[in-house]
Amino acid sequence: MTQGKHIARKRFGQNFLHDQAVIDRIIACIAPKANDLLVEIGPGQAALTRPLARCGAELHIIEIDRDLATTLSKQFASYQNVKIHQCDALKTDLSSITANRPFRLLGNLPYNISTPLLFHVLQWSDLLIDMHFMLQKEVVDRLAAIPGSKTYGRLSVMAQFRCTVEPLFEVLPKSFSPAPRVLSNIVRLIPLHSPPADAGREGQLERVVRAAFSQRRKTLRNSLKSLMNATEITAAGIDPGQRAEQLSLSQFATLARLLSYD
Ligand code: SAM
Repeated sequence: MTQGKHIARKRFGQNFLHDQAVIDRIIACIAPKANDLLVEIGPGQAALTRPLARCGAELHIIEIDRDLATTLSKQFASYQNVKIHQCDALKTDLSSITANRPFRLLGNLPYNISTPLLFHVLQWSDLLIDMHFMLQKEVVDRLAAIPGSKTYGRLSVMAQFRCTVEPLFEVLPKSFSPAPRVLSNIVRLIPLHSPPADAGREGQLERVVRAAFSQRRKTLRNSLKSLMNATEITAAGIDPGQRAEQLSLSQFATLARLLSYD
């Protein structure tokens, strides 16, 4: 369980990358440039941070673990371009770290909080140029899932409304120390300039998607009962006998618009 002197902390989802071929491949996918503004979540023992820092870009790293943050401060003391933020990424305002400038986000994310973290960072999709994340393969499958598949759910709809989702490559447990129990995958997310469909008033898509998938085995008639009735769903051109996992992004947008004009 040890890597150098640091004992990996399970509660922080610490699985450190040590496979140089994988590290090189991730950096090649990111292709950082000296004039980039980069933010890395969870630098850990700097497997990705080192090559990123060397490219000369302004690099902000967010690490929750005090011990690792202290080591990182020493390690990058001579790098003018690296700024360490010892804080919880889930509570961090990325627009304030980057002073509202467009930025690129990346990280080998702690798997225990990856879904809330994705929802948290997506609120800055206007400022985000792109994102490269290492995630549990199952989460990448959900991000990229298409209607009708078992993995299609709230995460798929909300992410695909804001981004293109491009799974890049799989990473085996042996590339990490300690090895996680699951397969991992690198994914590239690129925010869309405009959503794929008009979802009406802010927040309504989230409401309808959350309700529809909260009971994914139920038909829309039942799962959306608290928000709209079957007649309204039918009038919008959608069969209320369908289940959430069968609806396309534009059908979810149609339902969100129904709520928007109450
Ligand atoms: N980037 C390193 C690598 O690839 O080897 C470490 C990746 S490890 C999977 C996840 C890192 O995220 C750990 O360093 C952990 O301490 C940090 N972390 C966990 N929860 C965090 C949070 N809420 N905010 C910021 N960092 C967090």
